Amino acid sequence: MVLLLRYRSLTINLTPLLIPKSHSFHTLQSFRNPKNLISIPRISSSSSTNPTTTTTTNRSISDAAKFAKSVLFVPPGVEIEELTDDMVLPGSNIVIGPFAGHSQIKEVEFVKSSARARDCPKDDRPEIAILGRSNVGKSSLINCLVRKKEVALTSKKPGKTQLINHFLVNKSWYIVDLPGYGFAKVSDAAKTDWSAFTKGYFLNRDSLVCVLLLIDASVPPQKIDLDCANWLGRNNVPMTFVFTKCDKMKATKGKRPDENIKAFQQIIRENFKVHPPWILTSSVSGLGRDELLLHMSQLRNYWDQ
Ligand code: GDP
Repeated sequence: MVLLLRYRSLTINLTPLLIPKSHSFHTLQSFRNPKNLISIPRISSSSSTNPTTTTTTNRSISDAAKFAKSVLFVPPGVEIEELTDDMVLPGSNIVIGPFAGHSQIKEVEFVKSSARARDCPKDDRPEIAILGRSNVGKSSLINCLVRKKEVALTSKKPGKTQLINHFLVNKSWYIVDLPGYGFAKVSDAAKTDWSAFTKGYFLNRDSLVCVLLLIDASVPPQKIDLDCANWLGRNNVPMTFVFTKCDKMKATKGKRPDENIKAFQQIIRENFKVHPPWILTSSVSGLGRDELLLHMSQLRNYWDQ
C-alpha cells in the first residue's frame, strides 16, 4: 500500500519500510492527557501508544489499516477502520477527530519570561511549546499563527532569547516559545545551559500538551534536529514535526523541500515505532496555518476534557 499525501505541489510518498524496530522508541505518546497518563498503557512492543487502540488491540485489523496506523496520526475517538481521506488534514499525516474544535486565535498576551521550569506560570492551563534550531523560522511561524508581529518580537528582545517565554492565548491556553538550539556562535557553556534548563522544562512541566518541533524543510536532515527528536521520543514527550519554509520549492542549491522532508521522515521511521504527527507549513504563504491550529485544538481539547 502506498499512501500519497498531497498539498498543492508537494507530494510525500509514504511507502512502508521493512525496518527492524528493535531500537525504536516504545514509549512515545503523541497525545498527553493527565488522566490517561495513568489509565492508558504506554506503547510497548506488543501494544500501541495510541489511546484508540485500547479498544482495538484484541481485534484483528487489516494490513492496510495497520500500515495506515503506522504512518498516520490517529487521535482518540477515531476508529482506524472508519478512516476516510477527508479526515486527513491536507499536507500532513494528521487525522482530525472529534476533539478538534475552535482553533482561531482571538487574543494573545505576553505573560512572562522564565529562566527555569519552576519559574513558569503556576496554573494548569494547557500549553503547547515551540522549539527548533535557530533560524528555523520559529518567530515567523508564531507571528503567522497569532497574526501579530509584536508577539514573537518580544521573545527576540536581547536577553529573552535564552528564556522560556509564555504567551496566553484566548485566556485559556499558552503558546510557549522555547530558546532556539544550535546557535553557531554560542559557546559550549551556553549550549550546555540550553540542554540543562530546556530539558528540565520538558521533564517537569505537567501542563505541557505537546511540543511543536520545527524542522527547516529547505535543508537536508540535520543531526541536531534528529538528536532533539530522539531525545523527546526517548523521554516520552509528545511532539509534532512542523516542517517550515515549504514554499521554497525551487532549491537554489541542494535538494528541494519535498526531498528533504522525505529523507527526514525515513530516518524518523527507523527510530519511532509510531510516526509522530507532522505537517507542512510556510509562514510566507500561510500554508498549513489553519490546519496546524486545528491540530493544536484537538491536542488541547483532549488534554482538557
Ligand atoms: P527563528 O530564528 O527561528 O526565529 O527564525 P526567523 O523566523 O527569524 O526566520 C529566519 C529566516 O527564515 C528569516 O530570514 C525569515 O524571513 C526566513 N523564513 C522564516 N519562515 C519562512 C518561510 O516560511 N518561508 C521562507 N521562504 N522563509 C522563511
